Amino acid sequence: MLLPIRKFGDPVLREKGEPVAVFDEALAQLAADMVETMHAAKGIGLAAPQIGRAMQFFVIDLQLKPDEKPDFSFTFDEKSVPAEFVMPLAIANPELTILPDDEWLYSEGCLSFPGLTGEVARREKVRLRYQDVRGIRHEIVCDGIFARCIQHEYDHCQGVLFIDRMEKADLLKIQTKIKQLKRETQAHIKEFGR
Ligand SMILES: [Zn+2]
Repeated sequence: MLLPIRKFGDPVLREKGEPVAVFDEALAQLAADMVETMHAAKGIGLAAPQIGRAMQFFVIDLQLKPDEKPDFSFTFDEKSVPAEFVMPLAIANPELTILPDDEWLYSEGCLSFPGLTGEVARREKVRLRYQDVRGIRHEIVCDGIFARCIQHEYDHCQGVLFIDRMEKADLLKIQTKIKQLKRETQAHIKEFGR
């Protein structure tokens, strides 16, 4: 089932997510709905606050097309496995460690900011400990776009948005559009409720 994606200006995007406590069929269904919604919106990550649920929960899908080369590497529970073995990923209760490495700039987008992009500096490599939808603990160590996507979605679960980390010059360029989006979202909430 497709879920409506909350846009900037919706206060839920600024809430810190509650830990996931129950690993039941409803959580598995939420993960499936979020993956479907993310695919339909052509995103590579979607966090629960973006569909109106302030939870420590997000999904990621970086599956490669057959002719694409991976621009990231990773281990899953200390093993090397193909990306399609773990994707799409549903991450509950993420514990993120940003490993000491270089920062790199990349133009990011966000499904809660349609059409808006800007460069964000993030570290190259992370370690993520989390629980899957059955509550089983895993560890992923990854770099590149995988590490960047995890950092972006993890931030969402803390109420942090990519505009908070965006390069100042890029932020200035889209500031008017950000304010307009916020006004539109707030007007929509006022008229139709959440
Ligand atoms: Zn986002």
